[in-house]
Amino acid sequence: MNHNKEFVKIANTIQDALMKLQNNRWLEILNSLVGFSGQLKNLASQSKKLGISLTHSWFFAAKRCRTGISRSLDDIQYSMQKAKQFINVKVPELPRLSVLIDELQGLQLEFGGIDFNQKENTLSVVTEPITLEDVYLGPFRIQLNLSKLSELYKNCAYYVIALNPNPAATDETVTHPHVSSERLCEGDGTVTIRTSLEQGRLCDFFTIVKSILNTYSPDSPYIALSEWEGIACYDCGYICNSENRYYCSFCDRDYCEECSSYCHQCDETVCLGCGGQCPQCEEFICSHCMSTCFECEESCCKSCLEEDLCPNCKIEMENENEDQRCNITETEQTGKPGQPESGNTEVKLAS
Ligand SMILES: [Zn+2]
Ligand SMILES: [Zn+2]
Ligand SMILES: [Zn+2]
Ligand SMILES: [Zn+2]
Ligand SMILES: [Zn+2]
Repeated sequence: MNHNKEFVKIANTIQDALMKLQNNRWLEILNSLVGFSGQLKNLASQSKKLGISLTHSWFFAAKRCRTGISRSLDDIQYSMQKAKQFINVKVPELPRLSVLIDELQGLQLEFGGIDFNQKENTLSVVTEPITLEDVYLGPFRIQLNLSKLSELYKNCAYYVIALNPNPAATDETVTHPHVSSERLCEGDGTVTIRTSLEQGRLCDFFTIVKSILNTYSPDSPYIALSEWEGIACYDCGYICNSENRYYCSFCDRDYCEECSSYCHQCDETVCLGCGGQCPQCEEFICSHCMSTCFECEESCCKSCLEEDLCPNCKIEMENENEDQRCNITETEQTGKPGQPESGNTEVKLAS
């Protein structure tokens, strides 16, 4: 294949895309300025309303203005930042064709081959197989979509495709801790990646993406490498991710949603084995909040115990006390001790 001819063709396509991108850059500035002046008008009308409210001492209306003004100020700040982001940075020179051809040759050397798909209009390189912290992730294709290059400010122009995927156990769209649905989480690299593309520095672009793929940032992964294989529920073996996994601090183990609950007394997450249902209130209670009745020794939750007695024993105890009091009263009245089996109907109450 005649590389030079092919490279000229690719370089031409890229140059066209970058020219469109420059135009889009001015459009972005224009759009944010138009938005900005609209928001200023909005703010002016809000402040007029506030003025009227204050002259009439309509404080409720003034309060309502406050929300609108605050929203306008936020919008203005956002538009201003966006416009400044474009206007303060020098417009990148459109790279010459020869520079772009040099870039393509450099890329070829660096990655040992590049792939241009004319039909899809994509330029790709393939990385070496990547292994991070002993987790094999395989090689990745970094695919720059040249048709999307001109829309860089709105959409991502490239994909990261796992060629021999070993996705996370709990989400097969996550093929790398920093790649989800073929999109790379660029982290601190966002600006560098964008500038390299704006300036047509293809080697830099592909190398930065490759180096992000070869680095693991434990602070911001889609799924941490330590959880790549997922964590099995101790009870049923279901593979959980960090969102649907529950830790029981009583037995120091991880459980799935089905195999864990929470204590209705202390709100602590607890596995089904480390808690139980209180037979009195029928709520699920952890072992810390469970106690036993002093009298019948049945387990029940602390809030169902009164003076260390379960409700049944408490009632029984009260009845017994009542009986005793009645017997004493009877004895006082008749001079005879009351019969233990005498029952309530025969008893005359003291009051
Ligand atoms: Zn489970
Ligand atoms: Zn437990
Ligand atoms: Zn508890
Ligand atoms: Zn209870
Ligand atoms: Zn009891």
